[in-house]
Amino acid sequence: MSYKDNLIKIDAYVAGEQPNKTDFIKLNANENPYPPSPKVMEAIHSFNCGALRKYPSANAVGLVNALAEYHGLKPENVFAGNGTDDVLSLCFRAFFNSGKPILFPDITYSFNTVWCEILRIPYEQIKVDENFNINAKDYRRENGGVVIANPNAPTSIGRDLDFIREILDDNRDVVVIIDEAYVDFGGITAIPLLKEYDNLVITRTFSKSRSMAGMRLGYAMGSTDAICALYAAKDSMNSYPVDSVAQAAGIASIGDEEYFRQTLKKVMATRERLTQEMRKMEFDIPDSSTNFIFAQHKTKSARDIFEYLKSKDIYVRYFNKPRIDNRLRITIGTDNETDMLLKALREY
Ligand SMILES: *Cc1c(COP(=O)(O)O)cnc(C)c1O
Repeated sequence: MSYKDNLIKIDAYVAGEQPNKTDFIKLNANENPYPPSPKVMEAIHSFNCGALRKYPSANAVGLVNALAEYHGLKPENVFAGNGTDDVLSLCFRAFFNSGKPILFPDITYSFNTVWCEILRIPYEQIKVDENFNINAKDYRRENGGVVIANPNAPTSIGRDLDFIREILDDNRDVVVIIDEAYVDFGGITAIPLLKEYDNLVITRTFSKSRSMAGMRLGYAMGSTDAICALYAAKDSMNSYPVDSVAQAAGIASIGDEEYFRQTLKKVMATRERLTQEMRKMEFDIPDSSTNFIFAQHKTKSARDIFEYLKSKDIYVRYFNKPRIDNRLRITIGTDNETDMLLKALREY
């Protein structure tokens, strides 16, 4: 025996590479190519540094109130955390204690399996079909909870409310988490269903559509009981509320709807252009409801294209995983970055 036998053994989450240089095109982490709202910069510049002496508002009251008002909910139905990853890990802790396996698609956000492993939550990965579609009927079985990203990642495919409703109707006795990290880029939100289903919990992030990945802001919306359980999990596991600067910046972002809409429009227009141009080059690409596309070439290997682009200082995401190992996940960049990407692909 050795103490090493008891060390954690886990395949930890691997994020998109963050190369240690400046002059490259980074399309591998679904970051927004545009800066956050000027109001966010203003809020940070005018932040009263003297206030850092004090601990932040433990439950991020100002930010939670702003989010509740924005979405037409009550503050007791909103929970804010340090990025959706923080919020989701607390959700897994707070909601999935039945001992029964929780269900999620085999191709989805790869953090799900990591949280299950580290929290010892049993899980089953349900196969998506050959077009990467999630079949709602597959979730009609005994389980300890359901987690669906809608739109899903890395497939980029968004589904309608009938689909979400079917999953909820079949799973009234467990929490169903809908991860809406990408919903602002053309997905359909399940927020209207919160009134009908008290077991529905929706998560959102400021990292993608609000251009604030570096700030770490995410939130959950759900019934008062579910949100209370999240606070209980947080207050038992960590004492890291959202920091004071991030709370101020988050409130400012929520306050600038016009800039938000403009940025989304630009990203979506570039996405349509990139999709059309790459389809002309014989890439198979599902219609995307996100800020990335999931592309496969008819004849050329994804790994080879990935390596070639990298040699040209263009970083996209390649997953060496069964069923998706011939696809590339490409984040939508600026128009200029997209031109450079298309040029490199044509050369290849
Ligand atoms: C990016 C992402 C998240 C996490 O975002 P944070 O940066 O932690 O807020 C959660 N789910 C999916 C599907 C994502 O792509």
